[in-house]
Amino acid sequence: SNTNSQVSEPPACLLKPLEVPNKLLMGPGPSNPPPRVLAAGALPLLGHMHPEFFEVLDDVKAGIQYVFQTKNEWTYAISGSGHAAMEAAVVNLLEIGDVALVCQNGIWGGRIAEMVDRNGSIVKKLVRPMGEVFSLEEIEQGLKEHKPKLVFVTYGESSSGSAQPLEGLGDLCRKYDALLLVDSVAIAGGAPLFMDAWNIDVLYSGSQKVMGAPPATSPISFNQRARDVIANRKTKVRSYYLDAAELANYWGCDENPRRYHHTCLVSSIYALREGLARLAEQGLEKSWQEHRKCAEMLYEGLEKMGLEMWIKDKAIRNPCVTTIRVPEGVEWKKVVDHLMKQHKIEIAGALGKDLLGEIWRIGIMGHNCTPENVNRTLQALKEALDLYWKK
Ligand code: PMP
Repeated sequence: SNTNSQVSEPPACLLKPLEVPNKLLMGPGPSNPPPRVLAAGALPLLGHMHPEFFEVLDDVKAGIQYVFQTKNEWTYAISGSGHAAMEAAVVNLLEIGDVALVCQNGIWGGRIAEMVDRNGSIVKKLVRPMGEVFSLEEIEQGLKEHKPKLVFVTYGESSSGSAQPLEGLGDLCRKYDALLLVDSVAIAGGAPLFMDAWNIDVLYSGSQKVMGAPPATSPISFNQRARDVIANRKTKVRSYYLDAAELANYWGCDENPRRYHHTCLVSSIYALREGLARLAEQGLEKSWQEHRKCAEMLYEGLEKMGLEMWIKDKAIRNPCVTTIRVPEGVEWKKVVDHLMKQHKIEIAGALGKDLLGEIWRIGIMGHNCTPENVNRTLQALKEALDLYWKK
């Protein structure tokens, strides 16, 4: 007999039930979805071309328009995590040789720059230390010097904890005939954001932070200026999967009948719909207020323990992700591990090597944004510091 054709044993690990611990996710994302969102993900499957599912897509579109405060027709969710939306923005807006001005004050500018480079486009960078933000003056300088087709900024930086002021930036980009691309993955829904009023041309986010759905789908919106740039491309978008015009058709954003493009993530869209519904019921302004209030509680509690925030100026802190200076003599990881082992609470250290050992990051997002969760986290942190911080 031919031994090569013998069926191997089924993997023993799969013959045991799936077990997952229940953790409180107070890191920079994902956050815990509320039970209704998880339940929505378990609803009966529909086909991705069924009329009932198109209605769910329409709800999601309306929800994203609300969270982004936009009337843009091309507003939908990319099938994939935040990186897929980043890549969608880059490959649709830029062609080979086009110049992008990337403002980098943390991980995310670096990631976008890498994507721009892989797309055959040209990266020009403005760089600031993590925790600082960019002034309109220096961005204007960059616009004058590099004449980019696109400017990228991160609104809510999750690696440094900063929030880039956006007012006036859209107008500035228009003055120099550049598109403004903004990353709002770690902040949309948790702080004021007005895509249309602030003249943001392309904006994306992610399902798994303030929107409170599992990671899987990434809201994105293109305004008319961005659509014109896409319509006037000389070359095809280099990604089939992320082609914005094709996705717009599937999401019912043009006058043509919806065509199959790829099998949409049906259950993940249910979950996103419920996350957006939760935000709609709460009301955006209330959500912004709650995130601000819980962030203030967190700052106060941390300062009471003798800790210092990484970013001194409250006005440029991302309320959804707080960065804390690790005190001299404390091993950051022991504290993180203590919270996880003793309390099943996730907080994080640095992302990337730049601030490794220097900061902790605590996220307060969406369903997790409650005074109870802030207090639980503070208490657990105090316990860990009593053990590991010898003053
Ligand atoms: N941008 C920011 C600001 C983020 O915080 C994240 C996720 N940490 C991303 C982009 C990428 O999202 P994802 O991990 O879902 O691909």
